Amino acid sequence: MNKVHDKYIELLNNRGLVTLKGRVKQRELYEEFISFYPTELLTLLNSSINFNSECNWLKVALRKPRQVIHPIRNILIILFLSKNLESFFKEESYQCSKQALFPCLNPACENYRKLSIKKYDISIDSKTNEKIGTFYCKCEFVYSRKMKADIYVVGRVKKYGVTWETKLKGLIS
Ligand SMILES: [Zn+2]
Repeated sequence: MNKVHDKYIELLNNRGLVTLKGRVKQRELYEEFISFYPTELLTLLNSSINFNSECNWLKVALRKPRQVIHPIRNILIILFLSKNLESFFKEESYQCSKQALFPCLNPACENYRKLSIKKYDISIDSKTNEKIGTFYCKCEFVYSRKMKADIYVVGRVKKYGVTWETKLKGLIS
């Protein structure tokens, strides 16, 4: 239980969902979680979440393990954080890299194409066995690409984020 819990926190941290003091950002996590899983599915699995309740299962599941969490709910968390069980345990954290090594590729960001990203993680594609990096800029832009690909080319945008969206709205109006 402790091992799995530590992995949860590590992967939440990779996603920017843990504060500097090591506390889970419950509100942000909740919002990402419920936009990841359809309400009907959570209801069907008897796992809907009442955010305002201190004992909602998602909060309880991410505290220091004192009680057993239903396997279905652990699976929901694992698939939210990673592609499958294998990659969940394999995923490496590069969170603590002191050097910024990768560029932000959000044209609306002040750090566009500058080596400004320190926060990224690497997972293994289960089909091709290739390393896939996911990069998180402070502007909230998140993208992934194959590690061996050109560092200035986005593989896939995972999240546009508030900076990009604000710029877009500005241009539209
Ligand atoms: Zn950026």
